[in-house]
Amino acid sequence: MVAPSTESLRDAHGRAISDLRVSVTDRCNFRCQYCMPAEGLPWLERAEILSFEEIERLVSVFVGLGIEDVRLTGGEPLVRRDFPALVARLAAIEGIADLSVTTNGYLLERDAEALVAAGIDRVNVSIDSLARDRFFEITRRDALPQVLRGLEAIAAHESVRPIKVNAVAMRDFTEREVSAFAELARTSDYQVRFIEFMPLDADRAWSQGAVLTGAEVRALIEREHPLREREREPSATARVFDFADGRGQIGFINPVSEPFCADCNRLRLTAEGKLRTCLFSVHETDLREPLRDGAGDDEIAAVIRDAVWRKELKHHVGEPGFRPPPRSMSAIGG
Ligand code: SAM
Ligand code: SF4
Repeated sequence: MVAPSTESLRDAHGRAISDLRVSVTDRCNFRCQYCMPAEGLPWLERAEILSFEEIERLVSVFVGLGIEDVRLTGGEPLVRRDFPALVARLAAIEGIADLSVTTNGYLLERDAEALVAAGIDRVNVSIDSLARDRFFEITRRDALPQVLRGLEAIAAHESVRPIKVNAVAMRDFTEREVSAFAELARTSDYQVRFIEFMPLDADRAWSQGAVLTGAEVRALIEREHPLREREREPSATARVFDFADGRGQIGFINPVSEPFCADCNRLRLTAEGKLRTCLFSVHETDLREPLRDGAGDDEIAAVIRDAVWRKELKHHVGEPGFRPPPRSMSAIGG
């Protein structure tokens, strides 16, 4: 059966697809242990990376197919030169309901104002430790104060809400951070969320045992603060809980212990223009070649529809024989 060509994007399992993550670079100024090796990775050549014009064109085609939420990521998106200019181009595309960026925050103090002026709707900042030495240990950069200044700089703009602070949870590391993150969630309006460690690290050090599950983190929090679960929004990746005393909320993204594949509405576009229909895809669809060969919007849309139709039913992390994809998280666009 081939992909139907009239309605909005849907896969063969009946899932409606409305969310696109666009990686704007594979480069990064951090070397987080769960993502990149200390020495970095072989970077893409400049000519391989989609230009701003090409990203804008592809995003317009996706939006024409029903994509409503566009998140810019990487690598570290803010290391891409003139990144706010790309945000401005995308913000001008009619039909995007939510334009957001995920960043490690290092350059956010510099760019917050320009991003807001360009029309960013929301910002997620990744912070794995609130202690300077432990932040250095995990990211291999002594950058916590700079990141916290970036977070404050973006939070000063009240139009950019909610601001999410995401921490990857790893066994024998994150347990000692849980209290401090709970405090942050209770004393600020940031939405703090823990993400389970996935087998997408370039060093291939992931093991099931290294995953500190969302349930375990929640149990640690509940020792001090009872939580009440909120009703889950359709296609939401996070389970969100309110602190029972009404002060703040906290979220858990549990792709390993509680896969949410059945509700997945996401696609990913890598920095060199490969469409990935699952974080763990082993097959990709090249959109750069048709784009550079002069294909029309309809032709590109047809290639996208076909790829989406074949979107994987589920990932197989933790199952016997599971093989991680050849690309690590920074080269996919998390
Ligand atoms: N550099 C930006 C940042 O760190 O926010 C954007 C790209 S980064 C790949 C996107 C998100 O993926 C970050 O929140 C990061 O913590 C998360 N991530 C990276 N590797 C991961 C892994 N192996 N398991 C779970 N999350 C991971
Ligand atoms: Fe860079 Fe983000 Fe990967 Fe850390 S998680 S190395 S900040 S791309």
